[in-house]
Amino acid sequence: CSATQDEVTKAKLAQPNKPTIFSKILDKTIPADILYEDEKCIAFSDVTPQAPVHFLVIPRKPIPGISEAHQEDEQLLGHLLLVAKKVALEKKLDNGYRLVINNGPDGSQSVYHLHIHVLGGRQMEWPPG
Ligand code: 5GP
Repeated sequence: CSATQDEVTKAKLAQPNKPTIFSKILDKTIPADILYEDEKCIAFSDVTPQAPVHFLVIPRKPIPGISEAHQEDEQLLGHLLLVAKKVALEKKLDNGYRLVINNGPDGSQSVYHLHIHVLGGRQMEWPPG
């Protein structure tokens, strides 16, 4: 569909290693619907939801993507997953949900600040496009 194509186009044009829009969400210079925050991460609703519930969990540390995460980030990565689970529960996704990390051009990553997508509220399909 054309929305999916737009995402792929954005991903192809994205420039790794530049400050991203998510830095501005973190420093609150642009607004977001923040669902959770602590000293290590924040969770906020995706501006272009792909499911009835679609939010992102991002670390405050500007790791560009999962391929740039290192051993020292092990605890932080675990924390992000547990926050994803906690917010999914608060969003009442009792019947299940999906976590996604897009990485690099082939993964259709468009924002080069690591983020976990949490999608729910409808039946997910497999395989993804
Ligand atoms: P990616 O394609 O990199 O895995 O996902 C980036 C996600 O960030 C997309 O789902 C996109 O809708 C979301 N996004 C991009 N810009 C903004 C923004 O300014 N605010 C919010 N809330 N989400 C954004």
